[in-house]
Amino acid sequence: MTESAQTVANWARNITYTAKEFHRPDTFDGLRALVAGSAKVRVLGSGHSFNRIADPGGDGVLVSIAGLPPVTDVDSAARTVRVAGGVRYAELARTLHAHGLALPNMASLPHISVAGSVATGTHGSGVGNGPLAAAVREVELVTADGSTVSIGRGDARFDGAVTSLGALGVVTALTLDLEPSYEVEQHLFTELPLAGLDYEAVAASAYSVSLFTDWRDPGFRQVWVKRRTDQAPVHFPWAVPATEALHPVPGMPAVNCTEQFGVPGPWHERLPHFRAEFTPSSGEELQSEYLLPRSTAVDALCAIDDIRSTVAGVLQTCEVRTVAADPQWLSPAHGRDSVALHFTWVEDTAAVLPVVRRVEEALEAFDPRPHWGKVFTVPSAVLRGRYTRLADFRALAETLDPTGKFTNAFVRDAFGE
Ligand SMILES: Cc1cc2nc3c(=O)[nH]c(=O)nc-3n(C[C@H](O)[C@H](O)[C@H](O)COP(=O)(O)OP(=O)(O)OC[C@H]3O[C@@H](n4cnc5c(N)ncnc54)[C@H](O)[C@@H]3O)c2cc1C
Repeated sequence: MTESAQTVANWARNITYTAKEFHRPDTFDGLRALVAGSAKVRVLGSGHSFNRIADPGGDGVLVSIAGLPPVTDVDSAARTVRVAGGVRYAELARTLHAHGLALPNMASLPHISVAGSVATGTHGSGVGNGPLAAAVREVELVTADGSTVSIGRGDARFDGAVTSLGALGVVTALTLDLEPSYEVEQHLFTELPLAGLDYEAVAASAYSVSLFTDWRDPGFRQVWVKRRTDQAPVHFPWAVPATEALHPVPGMPAVNCTEQFGVPGPWHERLPHFRAEFTPSSGEELQSEYLLPRSTAVDALCAIDDIRSTVAGVLQTCEVRTVAADPQWLSPAHGRDSVALHFTWVEDTAAVLPVVRRVEEALEAFDPRPHWGKVFTVPSAVLRGRYTRLADFRALAETLDPTGKFTNAFVRDAFGE
């Protein structure tokens, strides 16, 4: 199917893609022929990124693979699944749970595609949990000439091939490691002060922990503690148990969120904050996020506290999570246990951008790596200095895509020509 790309926008509707054509092939051979016959190609996943990362530019072709068969082949004995790149986590998780299997972690929402999520380093929370890419054991790509390539763990190229910003080819399928299904309880707390915060202890107090603040006060209005029922009971002496169900964005209905008050439930209905059937987050927003060494968490939070009133003026909510060190060369968590400072802004680019710059200045000393799928203004030259394996990634991209078919302005900015 070919459509005009003029009206194709991202989920947040702050980006309209500038491709000359939009294609949604429904066969694998159709996809291969399209790629081989096009000079510039970018893939659109579920469109949940907030910047031009997926935009091929006006002379390029935008491709969605959501029309390809939604393969989810579970191998129960090996505890793996081979999943089509365009499948969303909500659908994948339901299938895995029906087989008594589970993913190690999920993002705050299950609405996002698997290939698009791992391409940008998307993550949930947990001191022992890497980003979603950590579960990937093999990627299958359609590369520039339309041929197929599989790159598995153990291949010297693997650490460049999963979090690849879509710059190596079309990821048609991924094989993921699984574990036996487990249950999670979600305990919410309120009023956690920033003064005296023992972040290491708070972050390690359960399988997955998120702090939320609107920066109107120097502290956290909400703490979401997700405990696996096969792990130690929750002991959280630093804050007050919540007395009502909460949404991370003040004023939004808690019915959109996953079950709280410690009611145990399947992993995929507790690890995301937002239910698959409802709009995640506020729905009218921009987002930014920065990953820094976890050891700098309190200093970084104090740096944001110093500009609290500026931030609060355009903020809906700020979330603080942890991500375990990741070997993927382009992962924002590459080589370091990280704390992730996320900002859900109001839906007003002109008002938000100056504040994004203030946040980046405040965090500068902590060597922040921005989330690839969110709004940032870190200059390209600075960004490049923060990725020690960039030259390896460039070499890999040149091998798989010698003419730069899958490169766009965003990728050129990030990596240099
Ligand atoms: C409400 C909301 C909540 C969010 N919560 C989180 C969160 O909890 N944690 C977090 O880390 N992020 C979060 N994000 C960001 C989101 O996870 C990322 O932007 C992610 O990339 C979205 O996946 P997508 O399929 O929508 O990707 P898209 O935005 O469609 O694409 C992202 C990149 O992946 C590439 N790509 C997509 N599919 C393929 C493919 N098949 N082959 C090759 N390249 C491909 C695209 O070309 C592009 O470069 C959130 C976003 C929203 C809107």
